[in-house]
Amino acid sequence: MARTRCNDHVVGAILASWRYDISGISPEMRKDYEQHFADCAHCRSRLKFHRSLDVSLAVLTSLAVIFFLFALAVLKHIKPLEHMAFNVLGLDIVSMYQMLVSAAIAGVCFSFIAFLLVLTATPVPTYLSGIAAERAKSIEEHLPAAIRSLRSR
Ligand SMILES: [Zn+2]
Repeated sequence: MARTRCNDHVVGAILASWRYDISGISPEMRKDYEQHFADCAHCRSRLKFHRSLDVSLAVLTSLAVIFFLFALAVLKHIKPLEHMAFNVLGLDIVSMYQMLVSAAIAGVCFSFIAFLLVLTATPVPTYLSGIAAERAKSIEEHLPAAIRSLRSR
């Protein structure tokens, strides 16, 4: 990350304490902070970094949910695992299976809770819906006039 300095340390400190998230404040109050983001390259880069961190956390936790669900599906359908556990490790088939299933269920629960925490503690939903609205608007602007007139009805 480039070593830049904030051009207004008071506003920069306030924004840093909010993790550069101004989505929770009223639109009138937001104007000054948006102006600061437009003026200050340091805060703009920090904003970008924090939002990409939030999005990667959401992606990682949702992937963890998917992988644990996949592990449960594998445990349900693949029987050779039971034979390997029984022959090589000398474990009881039923207890080994139950241990793996419990671990997978605990993994699903834990990663789903982590995913919900990421969605509630970070501005990811508003950030992503803002990006989606922006994309929809730009796509609509590029539509041919005939299709655009159909949409406005
Ligand atoms: Zn700044």
